[in-house]
Amino acid sequence: MIRARIPARKNSANLKSYEKTCPYFSWEDIEKEFSWYGPDHSPDHSPDHSSNRMNIMTESIDRWAEDPDRCAHDALVFSKGGQVQTYSYQQMKIKSCQWAGLLTEYGFNAGDRLIVLLPPCPEIFFAMSACARIGVIFCPVFSSSSFYELEIRLESTSPRGILTLPDLVEKISYEFAGQISHIFLTQGPAPGLFPNEVVIAGMPEQMPPEFEPEMLSGDAPLYLIYTSGSTRPPKGVIHTHQEMTGMLASARWVLDVKPNTVLWTDADPAWVTGTVYGAFAPWLCGVTAFVQGDPFTAANWYWTLEKFKISVWYTTPKIIRDLMEAGDDLPSRYDLSALRHVTSVGAPLIPELLYWVGDHLRCYPHDTWWMTETGIICIANLACNDIKPGSIGKPLPGIKAAILDENGKHLPALSLGELALKCPWPGLTVGLWQDNDRFQRYFTDDGWFLTGDIALEDEEGYFYHQGRNDDLLKAGGDKVIGPFEIEQVLCVHPAVAEAAVISKGSEPGKGISYLKAFITLKKGYIQSTRLNYEIKTFLKGNLAPDIVIREIIFLDKLPKTRSGKLLRRVLRARELGIPGGESLNMQD
Ligand code: ATP
Ligand code: MG
Repeated sequence: MIRARIPARKNSANLKSYEKTCPYFSWEDIEKEFSWYGPDHSPDHSPDHSSNRMNIMTESIDRWAEDPDRCAHDALVFSKGGQVQTYSYQQMKIKSCQWAGLLTEYGFNAGDRLIVLLPPCPEIFFAMSACARIGVIFCPVFSSSSFYELEIRLESTSPRGILTLPDLVEKISYEFAGQISHIFLTQGPAPGLFPNEVVIAGMPEQMPPEFEPEMLSGDAPLYLIYTSGSTRPPKGVIHTHQEMTGMLASARWVLDVKPNTVLWTDADPAWVTGTVYGAFAPWLCGVTAFVQGDPFTAANWYWTLEKFKISVWYTTPKIIRDLMEAGDDLPSRYDLSALRHVTSVGAPLIPELLYWVGDHLRCYPHDTWWMTETGIICIANLACNDIKPGSIGKPLPGIKAAILDENGKHLPALSLGELALKCPWPGLTVGLWQDNDRFQRYFTDDGWFLTGDIALEDEEGYFYHQGRNDDLLKAGGDKVIGPFEIEQVLCVHPAVAEAAVISKGSEPGKGISYLKAFITLKKGYIQSTRLNYEIKTFLKGNLAPDIVIREIIFLDKLPKTRSGKLLRRVLRARELGIPGGESLNMQD
């Protein structure tokens, strides 16, 4: 753990004091901002709003579209191939109503599922807002999904329709195409593979511009999204309309969204980050959501930050690393003066990346932690708190986190254990699609949600992510460590770009794990036996004597999910010749 600190920005932050807010905060303070909150609401202050009728569209797009001071403000800006499409709140509302009208005309009802298989484009957001309006469950899927992955999604969700592109239709199996009522294509010509293909280009515009949102119970499903599959298999996680409370609060505190913010969440909407912080959260705050339709290049990302005057950027360590590798002088060629807050999620934001952004983009990135199941950011480095490099930060006001041992007992500061969150909070999933047994296993008898992540907490209440439960490694004696502890040390070596450490099982007769490291090298370094030996020696000098790495292997790339998460299970499976090493869900 690094003792350095990056000082807080207390004066300009939305949340001024973490210490003063936490003891008095109640989620009801946020609920009061919504039209569905009434004096007769929740007499016991229970967070279960199933008796209150609500719709996230009333509180986001429609609210601002009907506000004379805000209606002309940009809700969505989309850029692709040099073409920019901009939609004000008023225009977004019309799109949302017209798309809702179209879906209704095709027989969609509350509870039906619409699978959206599209690369980032405005139609995803029109469909998302239309589904919410009528209570249809929005199910985004990565457009790069394989035939087999899509088949699994179609089989388990039994959607009424799928929204896609002509080029992607061939990913739909013949068997499942027959079970879907409609295959909507955002553009033509239809490939003519299936009889139920409908080119909808130009059709929503024929629909009326008004469509009253369906008033639903708070626990009505809003979207169904699959986890990244790092520990596999991906789980279908159900989220609801009442989570708007958590989305609004977290965008305001963690992303520090202000009325003039242009928020760029550079995640695909098929990853929960892209759905929640790419659209719903900025719309609840009435600010501009920016979406980039072009694939990543460093120049394109810097150009985007400059051209669209991005003020808040929510990104990932993967993107930051790619920018860093593209060169130190590149950022200075762009005017990044609009950028005032950077946040990161999904994988460890190692100190090297954090300092690089701080040095070259003038803003230190704030790491945030959450998972598909938690619905909202739960632990974060907040603008009003000092950043501790290497830490994921502190739990948001209203959220309680703890480190538990395998019997559910609370562990003291600086002990490694499972990260758990006290239930409930407005964001927690209400269920896993068709898997109640797995859902129940998230919860302890005394009301804690078990994340499956291993972490530790320091004396000041900062949390440090150390890997996954099933990545735990046995060192000498009773000592158990997370792989991240070793990987972080490996990354301090000047030649090492990224590292993954796995256990190949117990060393014969020793009761400790046989540890193997996989590393990628930074530009300019060449794989050699000598370098391998040098890195091993470096590790010996920087790790406790009871942690011994037996083998180090050079790789050109580490296996990762599409959202950039390290897949240690793939390395382990390949190493041991067991199932789980196939390329499903993988980036490349
Ligand atoms: P699956 O549940 O299918 O194995 P997944 O857990 O990778 O997949 P997500 O819900 O997309 O799917 O990711 C959540 C996980 O991402 C967390 O449990 C955690 O392990 C990791 N994560 C999220 N934020 C951070 C962070 N800031 N630092 C380190 N790891 C993070
Ligand atoms: Mg998970």
